[in-house]
Amino acid sequence: MKYHCLPILGLALMLACKSDPEQQFHKHINEVTQRITNEALINATGTSGDWLTHGLNYYEDRFSGLSQINQYNIDSLGLVWTLELGTRRGIEATPLVVDGIMYLTGPWSKVYAVDTRTGEMIWSYNPEVPGRFGPNACCDVVNRGPALYQGSVFVGTIDGRLISLNAATGDPNWQVYTTDTTKYYTITGAPRVVKGKVIIGNGGAEYGVRGYISAYDAESGEMDWRFYTVPGDPSMPAESPAMEEALRTWNGDWWKYGGGGTAWDAMAYDPDLDLLYVGTGNGSPWNRQYRSPGGGDNLYLSSILAINPDNGSLVWHYQTTPGDTWDYTATQHIILADLTLEGKQRKVLMQAPKNGFFYVLDRETGTLISAKPYVYVNWATHVDLESGRPVENEFSRYENYNAVVSPNYDGGHNWQPMAYSVVTGLVYIPAMRNSHWYGTNPVWEYGKNGYSSSTGWNTGIGFDSSKPVMNDSLAPTQSSGMLMAWDPVLSEVKWLVNHEYRWNAGVLATAGGLVFQGNAEGIFSAYQDDTGDLLWEAPVGTGVSAPPVTYLVNGKQYISIAVGWGGAGGQTNKITEQIYPGIIYTFAIGGQASPPEYPEMPAKELIQGEITANAREIDAGQRLYGANCNRCHGRIGGGGGALPDLAYSSTRIHENFRYIVQGSFEALGMPDFTDKLNEVEINLIQQYIFSEAAALVAVNN
Ligand code: CA
Repeated sequence: MKYHCLPILGLALMLACKSDPEQQFHKHINEVTQRITNEALINATGTSGDWLTHGLNYYEDRFSGLSQINQYNIDSLGLVWTLELGTRRGIEATPLVVDGIMYLTGPWSKVYAVDTRTGEMIWSYNPEVPGRFGPNACCDVVNRGPALYQGSVFVGTIDGRLISLNAATGDPNWQVYTTDTTKYYTITGAPRVVKGKVIIGNGGAEYGVRGYISAYDAESGEMDWRFYTVPGDPSMPAESPAMEEALRTWNGDWWKYGGGGTAWDAMAYDPDLDLLYVGTGNGSPWNRQYRSPGGGDNLYLSSILAINPDNGSLVWHYQTTPGDTWDYTATQHIILADLTLEGKQRKVLMQAPKNGFFYVLDRETGTLISAKPYVYVNWATHVDLESGRPVENEFSRYENYNAVVSPNYDGGHNWQPMAYSVVTGLVYIPAMRNSHWYGTNPVWEYGKNGYSSSTGWNTGIGFDSSKPVMNDSLAPTQSSGMLMAWDPVLSEVKWLVNHEYRWNAGVLATAGGLVFQGNAEGIFSAYQDDTGDLLWEAPVGTGVSAPPVTYLVNGKQYISIAVGWGGAGGQTNKITEQIYPGIIYTFAIGGQASPPEYPEMPAKELIQGEITANAREIDAGQRLYGANCNRCHGRIGGGGGALPDLAYSSTRIHENFRYIVQGSFEALGMPDFTDKLNEVEINLIQQYIFSEAAALVAVNN
């Protein structure tokens, strides 16, 4: 119900207006979100009780000063409420909270406003991203969260839009397309607001795009500036002096493939130095031999950039992986901190990018202070502090070898946020152990929407077997995860907790001496910050990727975490037996609510289809499956992840298999493969699925 409160209507109606609870509530939300100004963002600290910006504050340390929930009373931490979001894909969002009003995002870039006092939805907003954009996202249709500023909520969408919503009502203020929608761009990262500008990057380097980061006026939606991270067509004028410098570090026709360098996640801001820090991603395609034949550092791939937020000009850069050829993005979480190093107070920037080295930089100048491996690393022996460059092992670039390289494309650490406790001085990293074969595919061609890796592992074509093989007996053969406490001053591990599965959740540290993390098995845990001792845990049903947040409502501390299995590590692997809908869990001391109960999912049956293909054809079907289907549907008979395991799909699905592959499920996010697979190939893929299913039936019997 809505009233239009005109003064001429007199006292009686004025009272009626005042008593309209919905309108009063909207007015209240408007007031509290209008207070999120530049000053409020600069002063955002863990003690205010709000969580105003993605990383809690501009330093993005995710260290809350709240200590009502602490090591001594954690035993009585219990569930207060849960709220189902009605989604079934991965959830990676950091919720924002102001005066108990929570904002978060879900799959397909949906936005939710939740009243944490009641656990009820205030409004939700669906940007109605067309399903055909889903496959543009390498790693699920996820979103890592919104931004808040002066009464508005900002979200980036899978189809490349930046949208401003009224924080009180969820009604759109404005929207702009930030990308060329004919190319394979996506937005999964959270926007940040700096000096009235909404800063947003994009992803897509797996599919041949050129990375950039843009700033839009928060009020009007007009673009203020755009900084390209890699050079474009060299026959055209360079967009900036930084692009002129970058051009000298590239060869060949990289610009036809986009070049990559997408800024799809990490940002931080130092208001005193007035520098915006942005992490950039891998090259497109991955393999430098194809991307930039003849070599070169390929600036500004896999780099940390310091940008003037007023005009988007580059102030300094540090490239973590020159000439990247492994998908070693430097988009991983960036934390700013003030550390005492050799007796001197230093303003530093810290990052644990995919390449396995933990970097501490002087954030004023970009000078490297330290870089030590935080996981097993074999692509480089060390980073030379004098030159700031890694010293590579010759085999690792896989030009003359097929080699086991560690870490792999998942990274020693991926997007899941770390936390830095100013009390313990430790950085808590959701780290991973892994390695993989890398080799140059001798016949790779840039393909429309193809996974542009140009290494052999997932093209279905294979390596050049005439090259020598370089194995590494020390490299981890089985991927696994851990929560690691890293001392950034001593560059060493203080403690670590092992997780069986590789892909676990982002981290929160608090002044209560606690470190919180969810894991792939659907357990949400609290650890003692100086020892790693497990102090508390609660089941949350489904595997977790998103980091938790903490906040005060009416003076009481709460902890919330959004749960929903999916993302790069989730869409192809099912860890818990049941995949539940996306859901928010909220905990407080003394909480006694019961977790939601779901009916058991019906037992799935293996498809029994007629096998008409011979062994050779089934092999071909397997290669086609590996090249086209595996990234989303996972290993056949392996259980699937957030997306179906096709060995267990129904007869009805398999009867319509060809049409589904040719686009009939496009609205659901299943790509149309008409341009990539002919009917013979589609049939070979299905024959391979039938054959795997038959083998499983035989095993089960
Ligand atoms: Ca990548």
